[in-house]
Amino acid sequence: MSPLDELRQALATLDRESAAATAGPWEFGDRQSVAGVMPDLHGEGKCAYCHYGEPSWAGKRSINGTRMLAHVHTRPEPWWDHGIFAWREDGSVLVVNDTDEYGYMTKPDATLIVNAVALYRGVVRDIIADAVAAGPELAYAHGAALRLARAINT
Ligand SMILES: [Zn+2]
Repeated sequence: MSPLDELRQALATLDRESAAATAGPWEFGDRQSVAGVMPDLHGEGKCAYCHYGEPSWAGKRSINGTRMLAHVHTRPEPWWDHGIFAWREDGSVLVVNDTDEYGYMTKPDATLIVNAVALYRGVVRDIIADAVAAGPELAYAHGAALRLARAINT
């Protein structure tokens, strides 16, 4: 396989894996507060967290087995300061890795994974895409891109 083909293959792998995984952004700790809209308790169209400000998402969600109007409120700092969380477009929060049963991942591990996902989808992809766009002659000069491509292709 030519170096340019290796780069193209790595780019296709990056794009395929990135598209299949949770879009994110992935974050360390959970900053989302989710609650159902309960007018009788909190006022018309309000949830238990509306006193913090406007919801970052509003729609219908299943909460404790009931599909209902719901809000997501996003805080600047995590409520839950371990594990990796990602917010889906439908307002649900995906726990990427955490479990009460087996324990919590360490903060350094979670931080590394969150940063690695961002690098993988950002800088690594850009380096390889630039090398592919440069064409066959210049692609040979992109040693770093080829090393990345070979790591991805193995
Ligand atoms: Zn609310």
